[in-house]
Amino acid sequence: MKLSQLFSRTERQAPKDETSANAQFLERGGFVYKNNSGIYTFLPLGWRVMGKIAQIIREEMNTIGGQEIFMPALVDKRYMEATGRWDVDVAFEVRGKKEKEARFTLGWSHEEIITEIASKFINSYKDLPFSAYQIQTKFRDEPRAKSGLLRGKEFMMKDLYSFHSSEGDMMNFYSEVRTAYNKIFERCGLKAFYTLAAGGVFTASTTNEFQVISSVGEDTIFVCTQCEYAENKEISSLKNESLCLKCGGKVKEEKSIEVGNIFPLGTKYTEALHLQYVSERGEKNFVVMGSYGIGLSRLMGTAVEVHHDEKGIIWPESIAPFKVYLIVLDNEWEKGNQIYQKLLDKGVEVLYDDREGKTAGEKFADADLFGLPIRLVLSAKTLKEKSVELKRRNQGKTELVKLSSIEKIL
Ligand code: ATP
Ligand code: MG
Repeated sequence: MKLSQLFSRTERQAPKDETSANAQFLERGGFVYKNNSGIYTFLPLGWRVMGKIAQIIREEMNTIGGQEIFMPALVDKRYMEATGRWDVDVAFEVRGKKEKEARFTLGWSHEEIITEIASKFINSYKDLPFSAYQIQTKFRDEPRAKSGLLRGKEFMMKDLYSFHSSEGDMMNFYSEVRTAYNKIFERCGLKAFYTLAAGGVFTASTTNEFQVISSVGEDTIFVCTQCEYAENKEISSLKNESLCLKCGGKVKEEKSIEVGNIFPLGTKYTEALHLQYVSERGEKNFVVMGSYGIGLSRLMGTAVEVHHDEKGIIWPESIAPFKVYLIVLDNEWEKGNQIYQKLLDKGVEVLYDDREGKTAGEKFADADLFGLPIRLVLSAKTLKEKSVELKRRNQGKTELVKLSSIEKIL
């Protein structure tokens, strides 16, 4: 893409009301636009990042047999009343202008809806197990909407739901999800700790969170420095500097961001919504469920929190909006256009800084702010060597690369 065509622009100054790195850099870089506290528009660059994250998640969900669907955002009151979740604090109620009372909630989690859908298709044990997921906007009236994308009133979530004939079968799938989640976070450039946690409004049993260590995180975990066993402070009996229950290693207290959460739901929802199946022996049993969430927008914000320096973002290559930032100096536009075209032909994702009237300094500053993995600079000097200067965003050094071998290197 040519930068001159991009309708968003970068800003020199950080927004005054933001303190977290993700809010500052994503707004300054024109990745997102803040419409309201906790409510964001994803601009072209930010939406490309979201697309990359979504694609990684889709691949890993499909690998474990998850089937992608798309559910309504308007959730009927009667389903939420059936499970006692109509009156939760985070719900936004929706009332049509002509109605006296709210009939819907804006979907903040979809256990009820998917259970209702599943009851149309589940009759016998032969219909089990299966799992379905969606990637959709969730709405929660968060009193503490803050820290950029980390806590929104409106945010992107992947929610997977699984249906089983027994607790054992559900727990097998649960560990497959755990493995898939580890791959997702790793592929997105994040180290996430599998953490024992409370169930909140979802389930009475304990659950497991995926926590990324970061000083801006709202959670506190105790994590073993040796075996990486982790517990959320909310439920933990561990202490900083105490010894790990599993291996005897030293436990450390850390601030962290919850990027994912998995819940062994059991029969809480299927009992409330009467979802049963007929077993091999002809008995009627309640279906056993699990639900599994990842916050895509929070994950994007977390990636920025973990990967940045004082100049801007340092995107992991897998989720960067483009791979290459191409700068042309000394008006070498003809050669620049050629290289841009050549890279496009080879399928390399390039953001081409073709802006006239910007100084070299401004272009370099924007390159650092955008944080694309590779910066290429073409100038009279590099052309004398039939070369282009290459610098990786996560390294200080530059190198000259022959124009003839540039595709090979990328
Ligand atoms: P938290 O404890 O942070 O409020 P939660 O436990 O209520 O989150 P879940 O219902 O488990 O969240 O949602 C699944 C995932 O969605 C979370 O792991 C997180 O990554 C993301 N998420 C939850 N709430 C928000 C929010 N307000 N803004 C952005 N992402 C969120
Ligand atoms: Mg949670």
